[in-house]
Amino acid sequence: MGVAWLEWNGVLYWAEHHRLTYEPRSVVSALVEGIWLKAPSSAHFILRSRIYTDTPLSELCRGTILICAKRSTYLGQVPEPVAERMASHFKAVQVWPENMVHAQSLSLLPPPFQGTVRAEQNRSIEAWLISADGRLLAAGHNSAGRNRVRHAEMNLLAQWWLREGRPLPRGARLLVTREPCAMCAGAVWECLESKTDFCVEYLEREEGSSAARSVLRNQRILRHCRVFSHSGE
Ligand SMILES: [Zn+2]
Repeated sequence: MGVAWLEWNGVLYWAEHHRLTYEPRSVVSALVEGIWLKAPSSAHFILRSRIYTDTPLSELCRGTILICAKRSTYLGQVPEPVAERMASHFKAVQVWPENMVHAQSLSLLPPPFQGTVRAEQNRSIEAWLISADGRLLAAGHNSAGRNRVRHAEMNLLAQWWLREGRPLPRGARLLVTREPCAMCAGAVWECLESKTDFCVEYLEREEGSSAARSVLRNQRILRHCRVFSHSGE
């Protein structure tokens, strides 16, 4: 079981999460998502505080901090005074796990992928997972306005994981209207069955510094294309 926490205005916010292999959620992303669910009006301020965790930071953790928070420290273990506050619930709020959190965090599905999507038609961000034989496996729609973590790819991954409980399949393609940010790239990377036999295609390049630090930037599975096609050609 991993633990992540931060302190803001004298209150300890913390999350506990046991991450399964290929799961698109880490203890740090659970903390950030949980803070957005529990305290949406102050989440932006709360997440300026340093995040501590007893679990080594994964690509998803690093990307989540880059996109949704500020800074973090890996401590290896929870210090005794922090553990005591978690146990006593004195000025301490457990933001994760929470019943119904999965259902709340899933977004509405975008329209099914129809074969040809051009960049200029899609200002909102959508993602589709297409199997090696061209079937639509999962879809995600950007809902970051409600919860900063819920980018289109994160919603797609959450939906896929809830339904299938397995990695993104070998030979499949992830189509995204915009280049994945560092958080989504980290999540996708850690959810792949094969790090080489997969393809991430996007229409619009992300110019910001966060995409430049994406783990996918230097991988051959990432492709910029002008039009999505069923065949992937
Ligand atoms: Zn993203």
